[in-house]
Formats: sequence, structure tokens, C-alpha cells
Amino acid sequence: MDSKQWRKIYKKVYRIIGNKTPLYGDCGLLCQRACCQGDSDDGMLLFPGEEVIFMNKPVSPYFSLSPVSVGKGVKGVFAVCDGTCNRKHRPLACRIFPYLPILDHNQSVEIIKDPRATICPLIHLENEDAHGVMDPTFIDSLYEAFDYLVRFEGVSEFLEAVYHNAKEVKVVRDLFLNNNK
Ligand code: SF4
Ligand code: SF4
Repeated sequence: MDSKQWRKIYKKVYRIIGNKTPLYGDCGLLCQRACCQGDSDDGMLLFPGEEVIFMNKPVSPYFSLSPVSVGKGVKGVFAVCDGTCNRKHRPLACRIFPYLPILDHNQSVEIIKDPRATICPLIHLENEDAHGVMDPTFIDSLYEAFDYLVRFEGVSEFLEAVYHNAKEVKVVRDLFLNNNK
């Protein structure tokens, strides 16, 4: 897959999600954009091939990219932003936060709450409280986007590796919290 093809694929994925966010309104007003307040070591994993979007202007000055091992033999690219990106050009990880696409036992996409996303107030909402507040078409768009993206080279392996990591992070965090009760 060359960079032109990846660019086309991600433009389509971004278009499917569009301007949708988890809430009908701007969730950043709830939490002062907690997910954008990291320091210079915080960032997000780009999805396979997505780095082509962030290597050129006008997007590249806002991000530093470095290669990382995602685990299970999968390599990825980690992007650190300066906290002031143009939303139009934000990575897919930011567009889908606080959700995580995983593959079920039939290799079908399932969208779950990201077990690592404890910083996000929405992750703690019970289903009955979410009713009327959360926009269900946001989740629908994530299914559509990942049903499309998962067909491409390396994406299913990447989803498996990220989910494996996310579960490990949760186990370690739960252990830490229980030990400090
Ligand atoms: S932390 Fe959650 S509620 Fe806050 S801006 Fe990010 S996605 Fe929205
Ligand atoms: S890239 Fe943009 S949306 Fe994502 S964390 Fe940075 S400032 Fe926030």
C-alpha cells in the first residue's frame, strides 16, 4: 500500500466520522478538554499507514512522530501533539476517544469503551444516564469507519495488539488502585 492509497483511506475514515463526537454537545466543555492536556510525553498511537497524513504540511508542525513497538510483533508510530491541533487534522485516535475498536471471536469489529480512558468522564456514565446525552450515531459511525478500515493491510493485527496492551494497562492500574485503598 503506498502513501497515496493510505491518504485516500484515512480521508474516507475521517469523513465517515465527520464532526460527530460522543455527545450531542461539545464534551470538552465538561472537562476542559482533559484528553488534550497531556505533557510532552503524552500522545497517541497512529493507526497503520495513518502517519502519511502527519508527515507533511500543514499538519506536520503540530506533531512529533516516533516509531514504537505496539507488541505482538506489531510496529506503530507514536504521535505527540502540542495540545493545539487543528481539529480538522486530528488523528483517528483522538476522533474515537474514549472508545476502542476491537475484534470479536468472529473477527468482526466491536466498539468498546477504552479501558485506558479513565481520564474521560464519559467512560464512567451508566447507560441510563447516557440516554439523551450521548449521540448514538457517533458509535454507529465508528462501526462504519472500522468495518471499512479493518480490511486493509496490518489493521486487524494492530487492533489485536492495542487491545492486548489496553487490557494489560487496566490490570496494572486496577492492581495499583486496590493496593492504595
Ligand atoms: S476527556 Fe472525554 S469528555 Fe473530555 S474532551 Fe475528551 S472525549 Fe470529551
Ligand atoms: S492531537 Fe488535537 S485532539 Fe488530539 S490530543 Fe492533541 S490537541 Fe487534542
